[in-house]
Amino acid sequence: MSTPHLPRDHKDRSVRARKHDPYKAKGKPKEPSVCRECKAAYHKGRWTWAPVPPKSHEILCPACARIRDGAPSGVLLLTGEFVASHREEILGLASNEEARVKAEHPLARIIKIEDQPESPQGVVITTTDPHLARRIGEALHHAHHGTFTCRYEEDEDLLRANWQS
Ligand SMILES: [Zn+2]
Repeated sequence: MSTPHLPRDHKDRSVRARKHDPYKAKGKPKEPSVCRECKAAYHKGRWTWAPVPPKSHEILCPACARIRDGAPSGVLLLTGEFVASHREEILGLASNEEARVKAEHPLARIIKIEDQPESPQGVVITTTDPHLARRIGEALHHAHHGTFTCRYEEDEDLLRANWQS
C-alpha cells in the first residue's frame, strides 16, 4: 500500500530520531502497579482498568508518558472535503472508537487532534498505540467509505495511517 500524501517532515521529528521504544525499554513495571495519572493498574503482566490492588506501586503508565511527551506511536491523517464538512461527526466517531478500544486496552489513547493547515489540509489524530490509529481509520472507512491506507514505519517505530474521504 502506498501513502503518497502523508506529511513526513513536520511535527514528528522527536519520534523519527528514536530507534527504540523508550516506553517499553524500561522493562516491565513492578507488580502490582497503578498509574498515578489515569489509575490504570498493572497486574499479572497486563494493564487493566480493574480495581487497583492494595499496596500498588505508583508509576506513570506508558500511555500517560507518551501523552506527557507528545510522543505518538500512531498517526492518522484525515483528508478530503467530507472531513471538512463533517468534522464534528468524524471526531465523534473517532472518540467513540477510542472509548471502545481503550475499554479493553488501557494503553490505547488519543494524544491529540489537530488541524493540519498546510497541504494536504486535514485533521491529524495522534495515538499512544498504533492499533488505535488503525482502528479509527478502519471505522471511518467502514462508516463513510473513502480510501484507507496504513503503513508501519519501522525506523520511526510509528504507524502512519491515512483516510481520505
Ligand atoms: Zn496512565
